[in-house]
Amino acid sequence: MNQSSTNRIRKIVIAGGGTAGWMTAAALSSMLRPDDVQIVLVESTEIGTVGVGEATIPDIVNFNRMLGIGEAEFLKATNGTFKLGIEFSDWGNLGDKYFHPFGNHGVDMNGIDFHQFWLHTRQAGNTNALEEYSICAVAAKSMKFTLPDENPKSLLSQMGYAYHFDATAYALFLRDYAEKRGVKRIEGRIEQILQNEQTENISALVMQNKERVEGDFFFDCTGFQSKLLGQTLGVSFHDWSKWLPCNSAQAIATERQGELLPFTKSMAKPAGWQWRIPTQHRTGNGHIYSTDFMDDQQATDILIQGLDAPALADPRTIRFTTGCRDKFWDKNCVAIGLASGFLEPLESTSIFLIQQGISRFLALYPSLTPAAKVIEEYNRLMTREFSQVRDFIILHYKATQRTDSEFWRYCKNMAIPDSLQHKMDLFQCAGRVFRDDHELFSTSSWVAVMIGQNVYPETAEPMLLGVPIQNIAQSLQSMQRAMQQASLNMPPMPNLSKNMQILRFDF
Ligand code: FAD
Repeated sequence: MNQSSTNRIRKIVIAGGGTAGWMTAAALSSMLRPDDVQIVLVESTEIGTVGVGEATIPDIVNFNRMLGIGEAEFLKATNGTFKLGIEFSDWGNLGDKYFHPFGNHGVDMNGIDFHQFWLHTRQAGNTNALEEYSICAVAAKSMKFTLPDENPKSLLSQMGYAYHFDATAYALFLRDYAEKRGVKRIEGRIEQILQNEQTENISALVMQNKERVEGDFFFDCTGFQSKLLGQTLGVSFHDWSKWLPCNSAQAIATERQGELLPFTKSMAKPAGWQWRIPTQHRTGNGHIYSTDFMDDQQATDILIQGLDAPALADPRTIRFTTGCRDKFWDKNCVAIGLASGFLEPLESTSIFLIQQGISRFLALYPSLTPAAKVIEEYNRLMTREFSQVRDFIILHYKATQRTDSEFWRYCKNMAIPDSLQHKMDLFQCAGRVFRDDHELFSTSSWVAVMIGQNVYPETAEPMLLGVPIQNIAQSLQSMQRAMQQASLNMPPMPNLSKNMQILRFDF
């Protein structure tokens, strides 16, 4: 046997079976052969999972596809619904409303970003909102939905979509998927974590019944506790709460009433914001707030006042600190999910960050003794990913004109990371958005939030200033008509809970 075949991982242990644990188990079991690498997942029903996390972004569609999961089967198992974006209210100013759609605004205009044409015509009196040129926003407002057209020339190719779903049911669905592919599940509480004295690598988890679960490589998916990476390996936590001061959430489910909304709602409140997420069987609601600016009882009152249907239980409080670990991979352990860090769900990014953690690990799949460069690269990529998402979330707080509460005055005046300040400064000059390589949020996303929260540049792209406005205005008008027409022709948002058959789409 040559050295390369002995220097390989034979057993992987995943500690924790929330969304992060089971997504990791499912992805690994789809890529690795069970007779080659044994995968074990340990979870404690008694401890349970965080039990929230219902809104996603379009990348989840690719994750399911990568696993070969059919869309209809997935929607049925998770009470899932379609999502076309997020409606934000009261963020810029009280009374404001805007839509952050998936997909782009407008269509390709000779290499110049669409919003520049819109800004140019706006200066000449065009009063149509930017979102009227987004097919996702137009469809969402008319409560319509269709799957994207594969023909890139079709307007409907711009229909980006994601899901709202029951994350607990998703974890169960993936558990079934992973167990069918050979993943072994062990029920019980991890009491102790053993390390090799020389290498300090994790060698085994010791369960409450004293069973030892040994492994070559470990995933820490133990949620906020970060039992392996944080508590055992001592990797410190980078606290970002000076930029994102919310530190608590109260979550509550309500009866599902009326039509299914094809979007998430995010409603700003005096010291945070409230979400509304429609799934087939219930509506998820929650209030994210900062206890530095509001006490729990006030937060509960605001949450209850903001419900639009009877509650199904009492609110549940969850505490968190925003930030991430200084390293995501240390020794023979990678943390995925809440064990690696947390950013509030304002742009529904946590499940995406789980996906990124998994796919980056698979891209850098290690030997038993990985080169330091492999670990460094993983940490570099994940730190960059978290920081980029962090900046986009901070933008929502910083770009406010609200002064009606101490919380909003703090956010408006706070110092922000240099990376975000740079982006905002460049946008302020001529509406330009410069994104780093592989950044998650598109130019359209940055522009949706800036414009949606009344951040306007001093001028549109100077290259366009000599182009006759009349010509541009005509193109924009016909584009807007085409969007309206396309939306009129779409079927209504399907009521998946009543009848899956009413879907007119070819899954
Ligand atoms: P958990 O769900 O906490 O799972 C931890 C697992 O570890 C459990 O199985 C537990 O039993 C096990 N465990 C822990 N300790 C032990 C032990 N000692 N022994 C044995 N087992 C143990 N994400 C989104 O993408 N969209 C959203 O809309 C969204 N909304 C959110 C709202 C809130 C308020 C919060 C807090 C999070 C939200 N998230 C959202 C994030 C999302 O919930 C998480 O990213 C996701 O659920 C993954 O959680 P997890 O698996 O890392 O942790």
